[in-house]
Amino acid sequence: MANKKRVVFISHCLLNQWVRAKGVHNTYKYDNGETAPFVKPLLDLLFEHNVAIEQMPCPEILWEGLERDAAGIDHYSNDEYYKIIEHVVDDVLRLMKEFTKNDVEVIAVIGVDGSPSCGVDFCEGKDKEGSGIFMKRLMEEISKQNLNIPFVGLRLKPESIKENLKKVERLLENITQQ
Ligand code: SF4
Repeated sequence: MANKKRVVFISHCLLNQWVRAKGVHNTYKYDNGETAPFVKPLLDLLFEHNVAIEQMPCPEILWEGLERDAAGIDHYSNDEYYKIIEHVVDDVLRLMKEFTKNDVEVIAVIGVDGSPSCGVDFCEGKDKEGSGIFMKRLMEEISKQNLNIPFVGLRLKPESIKENLKKVERLLENITQQ
């Protein structure tokens, strides 16, 4: 349906790469050698399909700020950080429910694989198979609310751009078939 209102919830650093930990800012290189913020091709794709974008807060900057080193899940496994996660999950969930109630379809949550907070399929640390702390809690709450929102994990590395684009394309194929 062409007029359907849709939104995707994305991890903060997919729009603003400067919130990432020190040393992990990435840019995308086009075939002609030009660089652009990593996320540009993904945003182009979403906008082409008239999908609005909701940027979720970055829980790591709420805890440690911008001046932080890259760390694994063990570093974030503490009560202070869990409290921040609960606040962020509450806010995000409230927004999702508000959109849903007002006929705006939340088509997906897009997180960042490898992140101890926003990893969907895996994160860095002891338990690499599991999701990051933020995504895991969000998945649990979404499931409790029967919201049925899929999660997609992207890898923020220049060599992963093609795979990322494929994942987002598959997501968009699903919605255009509805
Ligand atoms: S916590 Fe999430 S939003 Fe923040 S930098 Fe890490 S992956 Fe990006």
